[in-house]
Amino acid sequence: MKLLLHTCCGPCLLYPLDILQQDGFEVTSYFYNPNIHPYKEFRRRLDSLLELSVKSDISLICHRDYDFNTFARQVVFNEEKRCAICYDIRLEETVKFAKNNEYSSFSTTLLYSVYQNHSLLRDKCSLLSKKYDISFVYHDFREGWQQGIDLSIQNDLYRQPYCGCIYSEQERYDNRLKKKLKKRKFTNK
Ligand code: SF4
Repeated sequence: MKLLLHTCCGPCLLYPLDILQQDGFEVTSYFYNPNIHPYKEFRRRLDSLLELSVKSDISLICHRDYDFNTFARQVVFNEEKRCAICYDIRLEETVKFAKNNEYSSFSTTLLYSVYQNHSLLRDKCSLLSKKYDISFVYHDFREGWQQGIDLSIQNDLYRQPYCGCIYSEQERYDNRLKKKLKKRKFTNK
């Protein structure tokens, strides 16, 4: 039961990895995240995951090249749909790799985050599973949100303050934009 686990970062890996291993899967973590901006942040998340993999003996495959153009070229002029596009880019690459390298299944640590669009992720993974004829292992890892945070603190992992892309970085730090988004959410209720 070889499973390729798309991994966005170290802190989001720990809980899903634990659950999948308990379920008997032989898990390989797969880091492919061209959405991360800027390059220094990309390196920081990658290095932290590499350190964790050595320390905890986790099987890990990484895209170390910074592939930001792939993300930017698809998202510019489509900013409103950027998360759906971002999921497509990262998940399809993962599934292709899994299919070409004899994994029997795949999943993603994005299903652990309470900040992601969980149902959209599940639908996209199910579609990719059919398209590439490879099994998708679904689990609502959000149940272990706090447990994962505790594990990342115990492991002294770098915990990033924003999702990853340039837009999420602005939303995190730009107070004027934060107020605007809050107001829009309120108006939309
Ligand atoms: S907010 Fe997160 S999921 Fe959405 S596009 Fe940015 S990095 Fe990707």
